[in-house]
Amino acid sequence: MKLKFYAALFLMTIQISAFAQSVDKIEAEATKQSKYAFELCKHLHQNPELSFQEFETSKRMASELEQLGFEVTRNFGGNSVVGIFRNGDGPTVMLRTDMDALPVEEKTGLDFASTKKADLDGDEVAVMHACGHDIHMSTWTGTTRTLVELTDEWSGTLMVIAQQAEEYSGGAGEAIEAGLFTKFPVPDYALAYHINPELETGQIGLRGGPVFAGVKTVEITVYGVGGHGAYPQKCIDPIVIASRIVTDLQTIVSRELSPTEPAVVTVGSIHGGTRPNIIPDEVKMQLTLRYFSDETIKKVIAAIERISASASKTAGMPDDKLPMVFVDPAETPPVLNDNELSARIVRFAGDIIGDANIIETQPEMVGEDFGKYGLTPEDVPTCLIWLGSTSPELMQKLKAEGKRPSPLHSPTLAPDYGNTIKTGIEVMTANVIGLMKK
Ligand SMILES: [Zn+2]
Ligand SMILES: [Zn+2]
Repeated sequence: MKLKFYAALFLMTIQISAFAQSVDKIEAEATKQSKYAFELCKHLHQNPELSFQEFETSKRMASELEQLGFEVTRNFGGNSVVGIFRNGDGPTVMLRTDMDALPVEEKTGLDFASTKKADLDGDEVAVMHACGHDIHMSTWTGTTRTLVELTDEWSGTLMVIAQQAEEYSGGAGEAIEAGLFTKFPVPDYALAYHINPELETGQIGLRGGPVFAGVKTVEITVYGVGGHGAYPQKCIDPIVIASRIVTDLQTIVSRELSPTEPAVVTVGSIHGGTRPNIIPDEVKMQLTLRYFSDETIKKVIAAIERISASASKTAGMPDDKLPMVFVDPAETPPVLNDNELSARIVRFAGDIIGDANIIETQPEMVGEDFGKYGLTPEDVPTCLIWLGSTSPELMQKLKAEGKRPSPLHSPTLAPDYGNTIKTGIEVMTANVIGLMKK
């Protein structure tokens, strides 16, 4: 027993010191490749494309991989691109980037700011990489270039995916449905990263367990009996019922869930009526729900159904005209970082950027469709890493002024592009090499 333990410890020590020997090479090559990646980032930033419209972006990602000798599959599950690079025996590691931009008009004043417009449901809208997916793609390209230069340092299969439509939560699901894990090798690990303006460049944020919340959308149609606004006694007013429902929904998180179980119930839209003197016969509401566990979301939905029905009954609506609660089946599940994989990533990344630059982050209530890759029957361990994107100088200046950096999706999002990409390439290369060390 004891012998086995020492043998395992010895093997681990060899692996760690073998990885430590790669660190200088990773740093040197990543620094070199980050210049190319930064130029690519400027091009992508000036040519953003909306979700499901990533035609040129996806072509560029495919050709970047082809130049490096990857086997490339274009237009996989839409505009996504899958690349495979085989480098001997060993594990398969998947590295994912997203590609889509947002309907946001850029106001950064950058010399490579976007002036692009695109069609969104018949309207012409300004488009901007306001969620940093341009940095994700450049880091992804820079990492693949670095890994192809350093093939002596690792052994295994590198599987990369440039995914469409992260912002619409369609991309990951479509890639999985198109056979990502049946037509290509099943990854032993899947990695992704997202820029984070709340962290400084040179830092990464990481945690095992929940990282991003699950997202569900619910629509409630509240029925009433319409009529003249001057004769409320002859009507059942759905605006009053809907108002009561909105207020009662606030008690789900505060009174029905455990205080230690995070969830969000937000009514983001409510519409009813056309004129001041008409009581309508219908009000529609749209809700976004956020959660981390199946148990929680089941409780929240049951409470929404109960609260809606009882508010209508109280107002005198008959049983066949109670509110219709529609739960959209297209959900984004929570992103859950595999604990063991996250612990290994902390070690690899620490050797590159120093342990002090690895920040333990808290779960966020926003959604990310990367979680879907970890919830298939193949049970792939996944890990999503935050990449600090605000320069330490800017962070200090903002702090002194009592301000915060522009958040994701903001028209003034201004990452420190060059340094974010450089750290991204170093860290992601280190992670892949660490997991595939010879
Ligand atoms: Zn986003
Ligand atoms: Zn994003």
